[in-house]
Amino acid sequence: SALTPVTLIGLGPMGQAMVRTLLAAGHPVTVWNRTPSRADALVAEGAVLAATPAEAVAASDVVLLSLTDYAAMYDVLGGATDVLRGRTVVNLSSDTPGATRAAARWAADHGATLVAGGVMTPAPGVGTADAYVYYSGPEAAFRAHEAALALLGAPRYLGEDPGLAQLLYQAQLDVFLTALSGVAHAAALAQAAGVPPTRFVPEALRTLVETPAMVGGVDAPGPAFETGVHPGHLSTATMMGATAAHVLGASEELGVDTALPRAILSHYERALAAGHGRDSWTAIFEVIRAPRA
Ligand code: NDP
Repeated sequence: SALTPVTLIGLGPMGQAMVRTLLAAGHPVTVWNRTPSRADALVAEGAVLAATPAEAVAASDVVLLSLTDYAAMYDVLGGATDVLRGRTVVNLSSDTPGATRAAARWAADHGATLVAGGVMTPAPGVGTADAYVYYSGPEAAFRAHEAALALLGAPRYLGEDPGLAQLLYQAQLDVFLTALSGVAHAAALAQAAGVPPTRFVPEALRTLVETPAMVGGVDAPGPAFETGVHPGHLSTATMMGATAAHVLGASEELGVDTALPRAILSHYERALAAGHGRDSWTAIFEVIRAPRA
């Protein structure tokens, strides 16, 4: 084949989808997984199952990792350090920015280059037009393998700091996980009042879809967060804080968990205490963000 060989280690739902995408494009793909049976279907489709992580690493200049976390990387590659030299490890696993930077140093200590990636799609989206992937780490290593990586999803290269792709991935998961907890909490409120989740959840999810319009468009809150100027003509922090208190009160009345509404109310209480009552709801950013340098 004219296309470069790719090694992929970690055959969870994401890794499997990536292997299929790479095979479909014509890349020779070598795989390894802790539980070897997860490779069976992929081998039938053309992947080569390596007997050991070292054999998998030795098969390609670029080694993709799709593992639960970065600790798993050490478990898998710790016995393959002899063959790491000169290779690019593209770790598409989730972890903290700090763990990612430490892994980049570990790879460098073994003569390898680590590029970190945060995949912004669930497994069925891998390789589709909707998928994009944050990358950061040494640019030359990223560019050398960009064509193969672009098959998985549109690459968004962010810069040399390997922690940066991970941080933006976690920031996106922050939105996603908070929204999912919000939907689950809202469904619990509705259910406690006799409205079944099957009826209410579609309406709750529609609220997520309509949220950008409700805050004035996707470009509206950014400038307020960035400048610290929070003009409060529409949804004031006072009004939204009162509403947050009502969500907490409803939760208490119905016996639904209060941890999430308490956290949200605290943003508004502290913004009001800091004098932002007449400002826009965006003023909660002032009590959430890290102190300005
Ligand atoms: P999982 O997290 O369920 O598992 C991934 C793989 O990690 C499996 O192959 C598993 O091996 C392996 N693994 C875990 N711990 C170890 C270890 N200590 N030693 C060796 N192998 C280990 O898979 P996903 O495919 O869901 O996710 C992979 C990564 O992609 C995660 O970091 C996730 O956060 C991220 N991600 C997931 C998305 C999703 O929708 N699923 C979307 C975007 C990103 P084994 O088969 O033997 O258990």
